[in-house]
Amino acid sequence: MQYIHCGINNCYYWSEGNKCTANEIVIVSDRFGNAVPDSIDATMVSTINPTSVNSCMETCCKTFVEKGPKHIKSDEYRTK
Ligand code: SF4
Repeated sequence: MQYIHCGINNCYYWSEGNKCTANEIVIVSDRFGNAVPDSIDATMVSTINPTSVNSCMETCCKTFVEKGPKHIKSDEYRTK
């Protein structure tokens, strides 16, 4: 994703220069992110009900997946 900048360097999709290399990402509220499993992600965006938050502190990247073989395997349906 060319125009997404991100400082989470332990994410599988993070790249040098603070770039996100995911083809697509989905941002949700912290509340929603905490309530649903990791399998709910950008590929299912049409099923996610939009919601509102009070500040950026209440949002999260649902596409985040920690680097490492164990974690990548659990998200293998996604490609860089
Ligand atoms: S998927 Fe989310 S957390 Fe991971 S690099 Fe992209 S924007 Fe950052």
